[in-house]
Amino acid sequence: MASKCGINKLCSMTCCGCKVDVKALKPLVNAPKYICKCCGRVANKKANLCTPVSLK
Ligand SMILES: [Zn+2]
Repeated sequence: MASKCGINKLCSMTCCGCKVDVKALKPLVNAPKYICKCCGRVANKKANLCTPVSLK
């Protein structure tokens, strides 16, 4: 299903439990520096979030 989040974004990768691939997600979130303002996900790179803001 399409959402406003891009296909590479954690936001869409994790929006529904049935398509969460923990193995693929782990290296993207193991040292989070950004949090998504729209859905609250965290990620190492802001490229993986739809509305990233720094965690600092
Ligand atoms: Zn998001």
